[in-house]
Amino acid sequence: MTPAKEQTSPDHPSNREVSLSDSTQEIMSQNLWLKILIGMIVGIAAGMVLSPEGLAVLETETAYAAGEWLALPGVIFLGLIQMVIVPLIVCSIILGIAEGGDLGFVKSISLRIVPYFIFTTAISITIGIALVNIVQPGLLVDQTLIESVMSSGAAAGRVPGQTFEDLTIPERIANIIPTNPAKASVDRNMLQLVVASILIGIALITIPKATGKVFKDLCIAGQVLSMKVIAWAMAIAPYAVFGLLCNITIRLGFSAITSVGAYMLTVLGGLFCVLILYLILIAVFTKTSPLSYLNAIREVQLLAFSTSSSAATMPFSIQAAEEKLKTRPKISRFIIPLGATINMDGTALYQGVAAVFLCQVFGIDLTLTETVLLIVTTVGASIGTPATPGVGLVVLATILTGIGVPAEGIALIIGVDRILDMCRTTVNVTGDLTATKIMDKWVPDTQA
Ligand code: ASP
Repeated sequence: MTPAKEQTSPDHPSNREVSLSDSTQEIMSQNLWLKILIGMIVGIAAGMVLSPEGLAVLETETAYAAGEWLALPGVIFLGLIQMVIVPLIVCSIILGIAEGGDLGFVKSISLRIVPYFIFTTAISITIGIALVNIVQPGLLVDQTLIESVMSSGAAAGRVPGQTFEDLTIPERIANIIPTNPAKASVDRNMLQLVVASILIGIALITIPKATGKVFKDLCIAGQVLSMKVIAWAMAIAPYAVFGLLCNITIRLGFSAITSVGAYMLTVLGGLFCVLILYLILIAVFTKTSPLSYLNAIREVQLLAFSTSSSAATMPFSIQAAEEKLKTRPKISRFIIPLGATINMDGTALYQGVAAVFLCQVFGIDLTLTETVLLIVTTVGASIGTPATPGVGLVVLATILTGIGVPAEGIALIIGVDRILDMCRTTVNVTGDLTATKIMDKWVPDTQA
């Protein structure tokens, strides 16, 4: 940044745009996705060479220790993203609303986008649950693998614990207001943080501009600084992906991955169906050719795939929406930060498939009511899932407890989680871009 730029106000548009686009350009211009893909392939290959269950070129203990060291850049990468996810999302949502300018716009867009998000998420889970019931991958899992998971402490059958009935609906609704925003950020309760950010954003447009200026400047600084840290994280992303995949392959061996192959294919098939659904929506509602749409968002999809983080990809999605899809900034800057946190169709589908898959593995039959409750809970869970790598799996544990499946069953699917995470994040990000394009068409010019 030049000294001249530094002297102007931080919310001077050119200043902020330059800073944000410096960070994004830095990353996009270096074929980062290609390096990450190479890291992924080499990571799995190296893991197979080192794994005691693979070529076993090292003693088991040495291989595990090597895996831990190799995974270090990955742990740092995840740490950097997690470090800034709360300020990045909170500042972006507040600014998205505050810069939208007027209450009429916020109301008009919210009335459309919230039902749209809920509807597409519910459709995705339904596709997933239908597919997993047709394919029944849970019945194809190797019995010895199930036994080893069960002997590691998990009991078969239903476990007592929190059930759907434990929280009443009024309690759940009351729970979305963060009575203690600091606690919400410590707990990473994204839904509460989103609600708080929306309220603050709305408050900012209703108070005199001069009064809110300092706070708005703070949010701009928070957003720009978070992006800088993301840019640093991205610089080590290829090594991170290499190390994380290598370490997991060393520990689990390739056979643990292939034994849940049918489950993986079910998730991937479901994600593919959701992608097709987006293309249909784009063709029908925006009259854009699906191929040119895919072409415009290809780089962002590859970044989402390689980083497994909707939050880290968010600034690039905004850039692609504005520059390639030609959507209005008011729309993209409102929808993409919001969508990155609450619109996770890929994660929802994955959580639905994984839950039913584990029910099949443990011989638990879900009644129709339980399936409907599973869909409702998964919509809620995917909304609350933070947009960082791997958390969809953690949130899945809560869903499993809700339907009485031993959470230890997760051990069965953890080996393939990284790869599925990459794919579901791609769908999550595509979903946000699709929503932006459609809303750009739906929200009239006068209001936006
Ligand atoms: N990694 C996903 C995302 O950022 C969330 C998840 O499903 O783990 O969109």
